[in-house]
Amino acid sequence: MQVNIQADQEYPAKVVMASGHELRAKVLLATHGKRAALDRQLDRSFIQQKSPWVAFKEHYTSSAFPSGSVELHSFQGGYCGLSRTENGSVNLCFLIHQNRLNKGTSRDALLKVLSENPHLKAFLQEATPLFDRPMSIAQISFGIKESVENHILYAGDSAGLIHPLCGNGMAMAIHAASIGAQLISSFLAGEINRPTLESEYSKKWKKHFQTRMRTGRYIQNLIGKKVLSEPLVPLLNQYPHLVQKLIQLTHGEPLSV
Ligand SMILES: Cc1cc2nc3c(=O)[nH]c(=O)nc-3n(C[C@H](O)[C@H](O)[C@H](O)COP(=O)(O)OP(=O)(O)OC[C@H]3O[C@@H](n4cnc5c(N)ncnc54)[C@H](O)[C@@H]3O)c2cc1C
Repeated sequence: MQVNIQADQEYPAKVVMASGHELRAKVLLATHGKRAALDRQLDRSFIQQKSPWVAFKEHYTSSAFPSGSVELHSFQGGYCGLSRTENGSVNLCFLIHQNRLNKGTSRDALLKVLSENPHLKAFLQEATPLFDRPMSIAQISFGIKESVENHILYAGDSAGLIHPLCGNGMAMAIHAASIGAQLISSFLAGEINRPTLESEYSKKWKKHFQTRMRTGRYIQNLIGKKVLSEPLVPLLNQYPHLVQKLIQLTHGEPLSV
């Protein structure tokens, strides 16, 4: 797919599909996820930055893992979430800094790192993996992106990826798309012009998501470092209202439909 933008025409966006078919649009709302070929083609600056984060996921059968629980455990250089899926298996998903992968990415090497945390060790000793090997995604970049660039509005991960420990990336994607849809409707109805569309979208995106992204980054820094996370967990256990505050800061307000 090729995207070309020429400002100051009525239909400034030209998208050439892989089939060669051409589409013209007045507005583009890009929702192509955290990192795609399109970002390179559009020469977005974040794509040049290398990211040290790698994500892994596996499903397990476990009779011991409690139903209705979501667990988050930290280890040096990363953190791991556990929750039951709709078919009863347990999803284990973790984010790890590449400097903890010096022994490779085989299941044995990865489980050795995770087992540094006694809760994860206990889970892994009892549970049985269901995949042939863990699934992985590299280059998980939490760097700053622009929500409007070159007359394209970005929503979801293409506008910015929140740390998964905040668990709210899907809701953010839907919320940003809804903000975009309302403003685009006003633009197409002739109620606002293009500069207003772009500046209002950027302003609203920042208002709703910037604090969450920033808080996610701070928490991520604390959680991946043993020396910081070890005193933090007992502190949060002692003051549960702090946990509520952190959740509020990373999850925003419920969205009315
Ligand atoms: C390890 C990890 C754990 C996470 N855990 C959670 C969680 O527990 N809860 C939560 O809410 N969020 C979680 N997230 C975040 C969540 O997955 C994302 O925030 C969310 O999926 C973003 O939605 P999106 O539509 O922006 O992007 P995506 O879901 O990535 O969708 C983008 C789509 O665009 C398609 N695409 C790309 N390029 C093109 C092209 N040229 N043409 C056509 N299609 C294209 C892609 O194939 C893809 O289907 C997690 C993320 C990670 C990395």
